Amino acid sequence: MSRVRYYTVETTLIFLSFAHLISALKCVCQFPVCENSICETGPDGACWNSVTLNNGKEEAGKYCVSPSEMKAQFYCHGSNNYSKRNCCFTDFCNNETLHLNPERAAEASAEGGWGRAELLAVILVPSCLLCLAILTGVCVMHSQRCAAYGRRHRQDVEEALDDQSLMAPDKCLKELMYDMSTSGSGSGLPLLVQRTIARAIVLQESIGKGRFGEVWRGKWRGEDVAVKIFSSRDERSWFREAEIYQTIMLRHENILGFIAADNKDNGSWTQLWLVSEYHEHGSLYDYLNRYTVSVEGMVVLALSMASGLAHLHMEIIGTQGKPAIAHRDIKSKNILVKKNGTAVIADLGLAVKHDSSSNTIDIPANHRVGTKRYMAPEILDDTINMNSFESFKRADIYSLGLVFWELARRCSFRGIEEDYQLPYYDQVPSDPSIDDMRKVVCEQKLRPNVPNQWQSCEALRVMGKLIRECCYANSAARLTALRVKKTISQVVVTKDIKD
Ligand code: ADP
Ligand code: MG
Repeated sequence: MSRVRYYTVETTLIFLSFAHLISALKCVCQFPVCENSICETGPDGACWNSVTLNNGKEEAGKYCVSPSEMKAQFYCHGSNNYSKRNCCFTDFCNNETLHLNPERAAEASAEGGWGRAELLAVILVPSCLLCLAILTGVCVMHSQRCAAYGRRHRQDVEEALDDQSLMAPDKCLKELMYDMSTSGSGSGLPLLVQRTIARAIVLQESIGKGRFGEVWRGKWRGEDVAVKIFSSRDERSWFREAEIYQTIMLRHENILGFIAADNKDNGSWTQLWLVSEYHEHGSLYDYLNRYTVSVEGMVVLALSMASGLAHLHMEIIGTQGKPAIAHRDIKSKNILVKKNGTAVIADLGLAVKHDSSSNTIDIPANHRVGTKRYMAPEILDDTINMNSFESFKRADIYSLGLVFWELARRCSFRGIEEDYQLPYYDQVPSDPSIDDMRKVVCEQKLRPNVPNQWQSCEALRVMGKLIRECCYANSAARLTALRVKKTISQVVVTKDIKD
């Protein structure tokens, strides 16, 4: 009988051990992006524990690491005067607090009387001794894992980047962005590195203000970066935007390059930062107010906007895939102009992700969240089908059509060019209400005017047609972002855009 029970226990342990090998771990997470301070590793991941000296104070870091992170960014064993780290492989095993010097550790344990370690020792040692015999059988399986880990660890140590080399003094933004795209997860830098970057930024001047944050130009190692600062009451927006930017495989040349998110408690309030690449021309709205564009310049801007939106909207299937994302606040103030004359889509704070397996949206989608002037007719009259993700993409396309109109009006061609105006500038007041917009867009069915002169320039003619086809009242009839992209790229390839 006892023999039977012994086998049952052994089988259970072997099963649990095997499940542990292939399943995810739960770890303590000290970063604000983790809900309830818990993160979950992928299969074969580890719980990561570290302590770093920051301005003379020990700062702990606890997080989940994936095998690729262990390889590309961290190594699990390291210790010097200013940092120490390790990895462990059971649920919440990174709960213990690491200290850099033994005196500090001794002080900490003296303060706490019977420390956690002692308590654990008294309770667990006898039970562990009992279990030890049973576990011997299980060790055979573990030894395979240990061997694999040993190999990986040796490789890690060889290739390892310690904090110093990861954040080497000569590392520039371009290299960091490269680290990000090759980190394996394809979704951003490790959180500790993000924090280190953010804390080395010196703010220079305020450059913009929007719905949530004030945006600053900052310097990081002599290079310009943009810092969007949220107030602590907008923590959810900060969290959401950081989360969207770190969507796996989101990075694209026409989507604003995210660098880091950080929250810093300065004693009286929490500063929430979102760091991104800086674009000195600012928003497309600012750019079009200041300059006209050549026909070629217009095509390049329109093509890059359509490419960015097509990437955002596209679902990529596979382990390194990305979900379809709808922006929900496309407008000229949320598009930035790069030095090379292309555009990037920015301000992803209102974006929603599609989970195609369950056909659901990742957050409860509230009504009418974008900018009223750019809202699609079905949002204004509340007929949008919120259960279909397609609806959100179609609403983005309508807004893109309006942005194309703002852009094409500023195209300088044979002396024709018009002053900068917002869409519906001649139909609604400067801060229109939903009702103002609904009357014009849904009831009167008005759309921005496409002048006849545009017919005399091939690129402008195509833009006029695209604007009409993006802004149809019937959302199902609108073009897709991919179609818009293809149409504009044909203008670039086959037409003489300098005519
Ligand atoms: P909000 O969520 O508050 O609307 P945005 O991200 O739209 O914030 O930024 C507000 C404004 O700040 C933009 O319209 C633009 O003028 C400026 N801005 C934002 N990010 C950058 C950047 N990376 N480079 C240059 N200017 C920027
Ligand atoms: Mg904005």
